[in-house]
Amino acid sequence: MFKQVSILTVLLLLMTFSSSSFANQCKTDQIKLQVLGSGGPELDDGRNSSGYLIWYQNKARVLIDAGAGSSVEYGRSGAKFEDLQGILLTHLHVDHSADLAAFIKGSYFTSRSTNLLLYGPAANDLMPSTSDYLQRLMGDKGAFAYLKDYVNKRHDSDYKVVATDVPLVIGQTFDYSLGNNIKAKATFVHHGPVAAVAWRVELAGCSIVFSGDMNNQFDVLSAFANGADILVANNAVPDNASGAAINLHMTPSTIAKIAKKAQIKQLVLSHFMKRTLAVQKETKSIISQKYPGPIYLATDGMVVSL
Ligand SMILES: [Zn+2]
Repeated sequence: MFKQVSILTVLLLLMTFSSSSFANQCKTDQIKLQVLGSGGPELDDGRNSSGYLIWYQNKARVLIDAGAGSSVEYGRSGAKFEDLQGILLTHLHVDHSADLAAFIKGSYFTSRSTNLLLYGPAANDLMPSTSDYLQRLMGDKGAFAYLKDYVNKRHDSDYKVVATDVPLVIGQTFDYSLGNNIKAKATFVHHGPVAAVAWRVELAGCSIVFSGDMNNQFDVLSAFANGADILVANNAVPDNASGAAINLHMTPSTIAKIAKKAQIKQLVLSHFMKRTLAVQKETKSIISQKYPGPIYLATDGMVVSL
């Protein structure tokens, strides 16, 4: 009897262990990350401003940032706006948010009928909240008030953009559900005087983290990105940066430290500016001295497999 029970217990334990470890495994064949914009705000870098798309089971599910040019790249990628479940903004600088109105206007010509979730930082002294940004763009008194039905829904045929502001609390993580078992987590990061958050998207056992623009002054990213399958790190300044630049952005040495500590599986460098485009080789070598994993240099339209 004792023998039977113990064998049964062992079998049950094995089944529990294997099913939970299976559930946590990243289903790499179902998820892809696509870069829609790998540049920053410069006019003459030949790159779109910030934008990323997460594909799940061949459908575009989550858009992270909506900088200038990202809506064009979205169309070029074959993504359908009807499939999109959420838009996550890291902050409201122009190079991360200017195409939001272009996406919403463009959706008029699609068959989208379900509400769209929009998340971004709450307000601070310098920046409006994400929900206020939406109102100032498309609310009743917005610059594009002709699109107000998408914000303050009046007709059954319109879908509505539902905005949520992420609180700016150092060291705290806020969890949101985008539906379809897709989770989005956000945490406050230091980007000079700008209200900014980093995002972690979890789906199908995989996790992709977006640093957004930040200089890691709050030292929150390595814990936030722990064990991520991909970290997209913004490389807007070189290692010898100083002054205002390092109050806004992290250096390659800082990226290396975070990627190593968090044991990132793949590192994607993006948000290049001319000062970092010119030294990509050096940047890669600085980071690879500390971080042993693969490092990819983002380009517009690039697809990264997990
Ligand atoms: Zn930026």
